[in-house]
Amino acid sequence: MALDLSAIVARHHGDPSRLVQILHEVMASEGYISPPVITDLARALGVSRGQVEGVVGFYAFFSSEFRGRFTVLFSDNITDELAGSRELREHMLSTFEVAPGQVTRDGLVSVGTTSCTGLCDQGPALLVNGRAIARLSRATIGAISALIRGNTPVEQWPSNFFTIESHLERKDLLLATLLAPGEAIDAAVSRGASATLAEIANSGLRGRGGAGFSTGAKWAACAAAPGPERYIVCNADEGEPGTFKDRELLTHYAGLLFEGMAVAAFAVGASKGLLYLRAEYAFLVEPLLLLLSERRKAGLLGKDIRAVHGFDFDIELHLGAGAYVCGEESALLESLEGKRGIPRNRPPYPVTHGYKQKPTVVNNVETLIAAAMVARHGAQFLRAAGTAKSPGTKVLSVSGDVARPGVYEYPFGTSVQQVLSDAGATDTQAVQVGGPSGTLLANGELQRRIAFEDVPTAGAFMVFNGTRDMLSVVDNFTRFFAHESCGFCTPCRVGTTLNARLMARIRSGTGSRRDAKDIARVSQIMKTTSHCGLGVTAGNPVLDALAKFRPAFDRQLRSLDVLPTFDLDEALAPAREASGRDDQGAHLDNEGA
Ligand code: SF4
Repeated sequence: MALDLSAIVARHHGDPSRLVQILHEVMASEGYISPPVITDLARALGVSRGQVEGVVGFYAFFSSEFRGRFTVLFSDNITDELAGSRELREHMLSTFEVAPGQVTRDGLVSVGTTSCTGLCDQGPALLVNGRAIARLSRATIGAISALIRGNTPVEQWPSNFFTIESHLERKDLLLATLLAPGEAIDAAVSRGASATLAEIANSGLRGRGGAGFSTGAKWAACAAAPGPERYIVCNADEGEPGTFKDRELLTHYAGLLFEGMAVAAFAVGASKGLLYLRAEYAFLVEPLLLLLSERRKAGLLGKDIRAVHGFDFDIELHLGAGAYVCGEESALLESLEGKRGIPRNRPPYPVTHGYKQKPTVVNNVETLIAAAMVARHGAQFLRAAGTAKSPGTKVLSVSGDVARPGVYEYPFGTSVQQVLSDAGATDTQAVQVGGPSGTLLANGELQRRIAFEDVPTAGAFMVFNGTRDMLSVVDNFTRFFAHESCGFCTPCRVGTTLNARLMARIRSGTGSRRDAKDIARVSQIMKTTSHCGLGVTAGNPVLDALAKFRPAFDRQLRSLDVLPTFDLDEALAPAREASGRDDQGAHLDNEGA
């Protein structure tokens, strides 16, 4: 069907802050966003062409170039890699005789990678035209290739291809307690806004995104900020490789999440909520919209909620577009406003200058669900579990070398070993807790505890057994950060790229001790000088691995103390190609270099 840009723009009321959503519709219709469409869109929205172009260029799921009638993106996450995604991708590339990321000459298909699809418990996985397919095998890749060859629209593919399994393996305090729709809202209303703020503060609830900031303090600061307009934003953009708990929470507990958002709105005096959902979870859009509409009909959203005069609140859904940095709250707000997801300078903080510069509460899915439970059952609900500094429970996404990957809920204070035993891990060499930006634990540290005061985590738990090459794990993480750096500040832009190159050299056996020193130095520099959390934490896996798996590095390093970072032999590759020579004599002896 021909692109009807005016209809799309009209559907979004010509609002430039809807730009990311508008671009999703253009991509769905055309498969790319052509330069003339960019021009027309800028005119229709009354913004500069450069602004639209900048947004198109920023997000991985948008493209100003045609990517083929079928765009296949394999998850590049380490757990998918360990499950064989690289081999399956190679197989598909050779089937279509196309280079990675290139479009076949007939414009049929391109085959590339994306950082993580949030299906680490059922990988390898891929996205085809934005739709997720999990549990890939040689056979399914053959079937997918045949459908693509036959030019069969994705909508007509067998529906079982797109089945996402639910792996909710362990429920505790939060997920085992059921609430009827409206129960938490009613409790908040009868308690009153100030008392609800106090209850949240007294519960000791801390943000479940990893940093652990007090939710009560955040809500109170937003409520106290001047001005009549406030917002509640739910960050459902969990892009950290190894994290998929929001997928389960949004599938089974979305009602509780919306309840938590309404409680927050009542407590701080907000009338609008925004749910920012990562684009990889596009399959959740329909059920979420349906649930929102049911809640409107039930009087749990809209005007005068629960017959409370002036309690007006509704929730809008926004889809991200494949930028990991948008998990950072200020970058997420920029994205919600239809801009590139560049993290803002802080202060000021979102509680006073958030969405559209208005006071805004930004919490993640798990935090808002916990807040709903506190509103219903009181502060003691959370205090009944966990530790003094970390009350309540944590929902974990467990993947990698375990018999039962999936989502597990535990009281804070639970040991890493307990989680591993329950998930069926044996011969564990290392656990990456909190995703690539988190903490790499070696075998001797498994008695440490999941808690803000010991091992804090946003929820990812990737397990590697004794057969795994830890350098390939770190190599994957450094590539991830190089790919996801937004490029705004120099330490992170240059540092993540340098780290990826140095790590590739070390892993390939051509790195020197000097390279190991350099990669540690670059990681430290990023930690202290980067603009946002992505750059600050990008060197963590390198530093942890150097400290805990040094022998693995030493086995790969050249014995010479200093080797030039510049690889002269590699630089001579074009000359070899031009001369048609690739024999031993056409290579430099690197040992002697
Ligand atoms: Fe962007 Fe990295 Fe700088 Fe953050 S640290 S602003 S992701 S370049």
